[in-house]
Amino acid sequence: MDFALPDELRLLQETVREFVADAVTPRAAERDREAAFPADELRAAATLGLCGLMVPEEFGGNPVGSLGAVLVYEEVAAGSPALSVTLSVHNTLVCGAVATYGRPELQAELLPRLASGEILGAYALTEPGAGSDAAALTTRARRDGDHYVLDGRKIFVTHGDHAGLYIIFAVTDPEARTSRRISAFAVDRDTPGLTVPRREHKLGLRASEIAEVTLTDCRVPATRLLGNEGDGFGIAMALLDGGRIGIGAQAVGIARGAYDLARDTPGSGSNSAARSRTSRRSSGSSPTWPRGSTQLGSSCGGLRPCATKASHTPWLPRRPNSSPRKPPPS
Ligand SMILES: Cc1cc2nc3c(=O)[nH]c(=O)nc-3n(C[C@H](O)[C@H](O)[C@H](O)COP(=O)(O)OP(=O)(O)OC[C@H]3O[C@@H](n4cnc5c(N)ncnc54)[C@H](O)[C@@H]3O)c2cc1C
Repeated sequence: MDFALPDELRLLQETVREFVADAVTPRAAERDREAAFPADELRAAATLGLCGLMVPEEFGGNPVGSLGAVLVYEEVAAGSPALSVTLSVHNTLVCGAVATYGRPELQAELLPRLASGEILGAYALTEPGAGSDAAALTTRARRDGDHYVLDGRKIFVTHGDHAGLYIIFAVTDPEARTSRRISAFAVDRDTPGLTVPRREHKLGLRASEIAEVTLTDCRVPATRLLGNEGDGFGIAMALLDGGRIGIGAQAVGIARGAYDLARDTPGSGSNSAARSRTSRRSSGSSPTWPRGSTQLGSSCGGLRPCATKASHTPWLPRRPNSSPRKPPPS
């Protein structure tokens, strides 16, 4: 298999790298110190088309496929892990959900707004009693005429206080077998009964807030159902398959950004490393590698296989049976 990047993805990678260096990296540390959401940087990213990576062109998107998205997440993470997490959730988990499982009218309504960055999408699966075991969630969605009424509490929702749209997973049939109990809904921020009571205090990745979202008698039109009733767990897992590749790419980007910073910081040992290599060449004797540079050298060696693995994963075939059914035509 040929893993060489096609020209258009190489161009994408270079364009995003330049954008990050100019518009993202300079404020990233300050944003993180102040736990300030990178709103200006997100707007600039949207202008570049980075909020529509999973949105078809007919809805104003800039579809680049899973590999293109992974390249974007890695490049952005090298400058700002927080912005990268936001782009990954918005594109892969939310735009991907609406573009794949939304009814045509819902796609026409939401995708242009998501792609332009007018609204930011969040993904609300986790609950206080449902983390690793996502199927244990208890948020309820009861059918009431042409609406569903949602009640429950979601936690750890990435950019939960900045989102305009939430993909919310809730139990529609408590009696059904585990894989058919849950449904997925696209819920607007301004829906009465949806509140964001608090943000978590974090030690790292501070510019990307995670927030609690509560739902109290929250009436959502039935047209906001993604896929069919009972498809929610399959949808959640299928989206997370893509999300995990994005997380891998972000980890590589963060490591690369840290490595570059250490290498370019005076006194980190990296400049001494260059000097040592020079002195080895000139004197023929073994260099005395400063401690920092030895660690940097071995870190860099470990980074390359990780980067290769993350960027090759989108080529892998999907697991069988991991995708729920597409929605019925409405
Ligand atoms: C920065 C950040 C952003 C996030 N963003 C989102 C988001 O946007 N949307 C969203 O829905 N969620 C989000 N989450 C939540 C995330 O998906 C959960 O944290 C994750 O699913 C783990 O759940 P938990 O934190 O409840 O840990 P737990 O499930 O309680 O796990 C705690 C520990 O126990 C271990 N463990 C769990 N079960 C078992 C078992 N059966 N046997 C042995 N060990 C076990 C786990 O491996 C882990 O080490 C985010 C979390 C973080 C930290």
